[in-house]
Amino acid sequence: MSASRRFRVLVLGGSTEAFDLAEQLAGDAGIEAITAMAGVTRERRAVPGHVRIGGFGGPGGLAAWLGAERIDAVVDSTHPFARQMTANAAAAAAAARIPIVHVLRPPWVAQDGDDWREVDDMAAAAAAIPASPCFLTVGRTELDPFAVRRDIAFVARVIDRPDPPPDLTDVIYVEARGPFVLADELRLLDRHGIRSIVTKNSGGKAAEAKLIAARQLGLPVVMVRRPAPPDGAVVADATAALGWIRGLNHA
Ligand code: NAP
Repeated sequence: MSASRRFRVLVLGGSTEAFDLAEQLAGDAGIEAITAMAGVTRERRAVPGHVRIGGFGGPGGLAAWLGAERIDAVVDSTHPFARQMTANAAAAAAAARIPIVHVLRPPWVAQDGDDWREVDDMAAAAAAIPASPCFLTVGRTELDPFAVRRDIAFVARVIDRPDPPPDLTDVIYVEARGPFVLADELRLLDRHGIRSIVTKNSGGKAAEAKLIAARQLGLPVVMVRRPAPPDGAVVADATAALGWIRGLNHA
């Protein structure tokens, strides 16, 4: 690489870690980062540096884009449940012969006092709900499988309201974006008389308070397990991803 050309990195965003990484990369004169966002939620935290909004058109489209933009490395910092983009990124990076690392924050682990019922997918989660009303925090695009539970009243927390809405018999939407704190979670659970919770094992601090609240209140939690981790290099946070990038840049 010429002395004047900066090392170019694509960060696939959608997670707290991607924002943190963009902030850290903005202060590195030797690296030029582009953060790609799916553009599916209405409001966005401002991302420092270059931002690209919208999909690439599958792994082939991404591989072509990586070549056209002369990208040197890819950081997949999407959400642990963004299965499709993670698979696309791995395939595209392999096709374009570009190194890739996946940022995967550690999952939550049940502690003493927790009553978790772990399941593999949303259909199993719906079947496992033990009591109504149920606090549903799985994201607005994953609500349809819960329509089979005509016996359960739901309080669904979403960043944006689902459109079209799923066919849930009885649902109240709470529109909110994390981070969430324990006192607010306890208030919300109390206000709605919640008797069970469904969530996916996203990990991280921003959405953890509901689990602490459930522990304190003795509420059952239906926990959707993560998909299998991707093959290849994996790091746990933005700082480790930055170290991975710098290791390549100085190699
Ligand atoms: P997904 O199913 O893995 O991806 C669906 C499609 O969205 C991809 O094929 C890709 O379109 C596009 N896409 C996803 N992430 C992108 C990114 N960072 N930049 C550009 N295009 C992207 O994703 P999802 O689960 O619907 O999540 C969508 C976004 O929300 C992701 O960025 C994810 O990190 C974030 N998010 C997801 C969750 C979750 O629980 N799934 C939670 C919080 C945040 P093309 O094939 O056209 O490239």
